[in-house]
Amino acid sequence: MVITPDSQPYIQTIDGWWYNNQVAEVAMLRLDIIHAEVSGNKWYKLKHNINYCQKQGVNSILTFGGAYSNHLAATAAMAQMSGLRSIGIVKGKYAEANPTPTLLSCINNGMQLVYVTNEEYRQKNDKGYLLVLAERFDNPLIIPEGGANALGRVGAEEIVSLIPERFTHIAVPVGTGTTLIGIVNSCNDDVAVIGFAPMKGGAYLNAEVKPYLKSNRADSYHIYDDWHFGGFGKHNEELISFMNQFYIQHNIPLDKVYTAKMMYGLKAQIEQGLYPQDVKILCIHTGGLQGNQSLSGQLQY
Ligand SMILES: *Cc1c(COP(=O)(O)O)cnc(C)c1O
Repeated sequence: MVITPDSQPYIQTIDGWWYNNQVAEVAMLRLDIIHAEVSGNKWYKLKHNINYCQKQGVNSILTFGGAYSNHLAATAAMAQMSGLRSIGIVKGKYAEANPTPTLLSCINNGMQLVYVTNEEYRQKNDKGYLLVLAERFDNPLIIPEGGANALGRVGAEEIVSLIPERFTHIAVPVGTGTTLIGIVNSCNDDVAVIGFAPMKGGAYLNAEVKPYLKSNRADSYHIYDDWHFGGFGKHNEELISFMNQFYIQHNIPLDKVYTAKMMYGLKAQIEQGLYPQDVKILCIHTGGLQGNQSLSGQLQY
């Protein structure tokens, strides 16, 4: 079965007044419109994993995530579309009695959810634990949290084929860094990649991604963690109001976990004069809009 996107991604220009014309161009690559349930970078990170299952005759996928995880929701939807069974190991038991909208969409797409304690969840990369899970669930393809595997990185490289040559900088939000790695490895040598980590202390990711980068690309990116708004998944009124304004101004819905913090941070950097006047920045809209469901009533979209 071949899975096809709802819509083809496109590039949308951001008006010069938004960045005081302090750089030559800011635009956004709209990956968020690819698919209603598999928006953004998850489509690219998962597609080769799905292909692998189909080629190898593996009939199920097991992966990991929290109660608001875009990756879990995307995996459930993509597995469903491909006729694969899916199992989600969910961090924490608190959502079991009262599933979040994210988990409800997983359930609707046929994902079997297994709620584990935070302590058990911490074993998510341990070989022994993965062997136990493989046996218990009849040898599924096990995809790490966030889709952070080699097939995910290969898929992320394909995003670059959507990016015209004129851009000097590519801005991307960073969770596991899988998307950033794919982009850094496949874009032209003279392009700089700007990563925005939405968690406290996220600069540690600068070192985490390095082993996966081609050696000549090791200095062509930087991950900033200044705009975490209190930590991963946290937000405040300022961020919500920024998201509403951005939507009214550009008709682009941002997600509260990743892309809102990236655009807020990028605007601040441009205002601080971090970039020369002639740079052209393409921001990747990595999707994640399903996560906004928990903000009911606060957004104008
Ligand atoms: C998962 C996700 C990311 C993080 O991607 P990584 O490849 O793990 O760095 C960024 N943005 C959105 C909207 C996501 O859902």
